[in-house]
Amino acid sequence: MNAASVIKKMQSGLTPEIPELVYLLDLPEGDELKQLYSAAYQTKLKYVGNKIHLRGIIEFSNICTKNCYYCGIRRGNHNVTRYQIPEEDILSQALEADQLGLGSVVLQSGERSDEEFVSLIERLVRKIKEKSGGRLGITLSTGEQSRETYLRWFKAGAHRFLLRIEASDPELYAKIHPADHSWEKRKNCLTLLSDIGYQTGTGVMLGLPFQTTEHIAKDILFYQDMNMDMIGMGPYIVHEDTPLAKEMPDFDPQRQLLMGLKAIAVTRLLLKDVNIASTTALQALHPDGRKMGLLAGANVIMPNITESRRRAGYLLYKGKPGVNDDSLSGLELLKQEAESAGEEILWNDWGDSPHYFARSKQ
Ligand code: SF4
Repeated sequence: MNAASVIKKMQSGLTPEIPELVYLLDLPEGDELKQLYSAAYQTKLKYVGNKIHLRGIIEFSNICTKNCYYCGIRRGNHNVTRYQIPEEDILSQALEADQLGLGSVVLQSGERSDEEFVSLIERLVRKIKEKSGGRLGITLSTGEQSRETYLRWFKAGAHRFLLRIEASDPELYAKIHPADHSWEKRKNCLTLLSDIGYQTGTGVMLGLPFQTTEHIAKDILFYQDMNMDMIGMGPYIVHEDTPLAKEMPDFDPQRQLLMGLKAIAVTRLLLKDVNIASTTALQALHPDGRKMGLLAGANVIMPNITESRRRAGYLLYKGKPGVNDDSLSGLELLKQEAESAGEEILWNDWGDSPHYFARSKQ
């Protein structure tokens, strides 16, 4: 087996065998890895172009009812000061994103499903739509909910939803979550979201304790099986106030970064027309991590536009970048990164996933 033959197979539209995906994901630095990145970048140019889509993330609350073993804002972490940004402030941050030309926002928070939370989001989505004159695209990243709740938010005007499966293997999922967190429920939520009509995104953490390369290969096939429109994968980064931290005493940033980039490249080669995020976690591992993600096949960047005084409260992992930046300086940096990567930022555009429109016609 060699990288060129597997890449050729994927370029011709065939689905590779698991060992072939594992071969690509295990490539060490060298010529074959360069071939992988280059082929993924060509696939990106062919199917989604060299435009970077922006989503301004507003982390509006770190209150969470769940207790995932890897997450810095899990319910059981009492070292976190909890916050919820007042409704009017969330609204004005979203409208600022519109003024900055970002084109779309992501409302992200810890998970709650009480009526107060559900109706807050419903109102926010309606108001953002109304006050931006329908210009701003709205993605939600607010966890597992009932079909009825997803439908309420969709009818209010949200059109994209991000819900990472975190691990597509139920056994691995069970190792990184408490027993009352259900993999089946989470997977079913992805189906509900797609059926309702959301552009649906998922993803996993890469380089987790207990995770093998075969798990990651199967994760990528899971995205394909679930017909996902958007993928957001981030290298796992330890947060010391979490139970999973003790399972990774030998954290190696370079290894994590490399797996993050290879997974983007392989996902681009296989899924072709989906949106793929170059995540903040890549930037946390390397100052040029986000740009490296773009060159490996990603086409979406999600700048944090949460008001800066709140950001320290939303540390999902150690060393999260941009905590002290304001939105404007973050965007300036992004422009420089885009230029140096030979890419162009698409301003004032929703940046929808071409895959969504292709599957809607099926
Ligand atoms: S990963 Fe999400 S659901 Fe899990 S504890 Fe963190 S914020 Fe809550």
